[in-house]
Amino acid sequence: MTVLVTGGAGYIGSHMVLKLLDSGESVVILDNLSTGFRWAVPTSATLVVGDVGDQELLRSIVRKLGVKAIIHFAGSIVVPESVADPLGYYHNNTVKSRALMEVAVEMGIEQFIFSSTAAVYGNPSEVPVSEDAELKPMSPYGSSKLMTEIMLADAARAHNFRYVALRYFNVAGADPQGRTGQSTPNATHLIKVACEAALGKRPCIEVFGTDYPTEDGTCIRDYIHVTDLVRAHMAALRHLRDGGDSEIFNCGYSKGFSVLQVIDAVKRVSGADFEVRNAPRRAGDPAAIVAASDKIRVRLGWRPELDKLETIAAQALAWETHMPQFKHAS
Ligand code: UDP
Repeated sequence: MTVLVTGGAGYIGSHMVLKLLDSGESVVILDNLSTGFRWAVPTSATLVVGDVGDQELLRSIVRKLGVKAIIHFAGSIVVPESVADPLGYYHNNTVKSRALMEVAVEMGIEQFIFSSTAAVYGNPSEVPVSEDAELKPMSPYGSSKLMTEIMLADAARAHNFRYVALRYFNVAGADPQGRTGQSTPNATHLIKVACEAALGKRPCIEVFGTDYPTEDGTCIRDYIHVTDLVRAHMAALRHLRDGGDSEIFNCGYSKGFSVLQVIDAVKRVSGADFEVRNAPRRAGDPAAIVAASDKIRVRLGWRPELDKLETIAAQALAWETHMPQFKHAS
């Protein structure tokens, strides 16, 4: 009953792998180590270094290790980068997901969990945004994930194949036991960047856009602790194993914080008063996006456990403080 975790050496994937192993599951990771790290893979998981689009490799992993479920994290995740390199994003996120799905269908793997994103909604007309809101991605990143959701739905209609697509809001924080965290160099995500500024790893933080139609003029996001997010995946896996239907769920707390509120939280937990500079808007950023989260609470019984912005910021900071020794060890 092995679970294949693509992208399992990366930020969210490595938290997932730890949770699966803690729950007694057998895990194989497929990761090309482009943004993941070998050190992030526990010795009790099998690591295959390779590409998610490599169907021959996928078939051999499934055959040799008896894979019964796939959790698919591997992909590119930076909104502005996707604006600059759309075709790269469609290739990496959409084309390779299609290849993986095809092998799953061909080899009778019925259970598939997909990392989707709140970016499929674009700039929603109403927040909190529910799963049945209009889908209007504003970036190639969001479109690349939506295209994969469409393929999943069609494949599930045509074949013996069920999936759960989890639409992540803003994932942040680190393993409360300090075993893994966000380690990618040249980070762009707000909490990570703020933690780097707090520790003097960068001279200041820039606020991208202060003229949005929000209370303080900066963008509003729903930040979810990575550990609560992987707990949502565990609930999704149970749902599929129990024979549950294909479903799509938002993963967020239904609480929005502005960029300035997040920076304040990082300042509070770090005690560092780093410089904050106003900067122009960033391409592809919606003004405000907050999850309606009742569907996952009702259908999967998921409940947040680490839903305080300070907790997320403090654990991200703790990781940022202790991670450097790993930095060059991939
Ligand atoms: N942001 C910012 N400065 C930074 C990084 C991010 O002002 O150095 C803003 C960004 O414009 C967005 C919010 O913080 O409004 C969250 O961005 P992030 O890249 O963390 O996640 P995204 O919402 O793009 O997935």
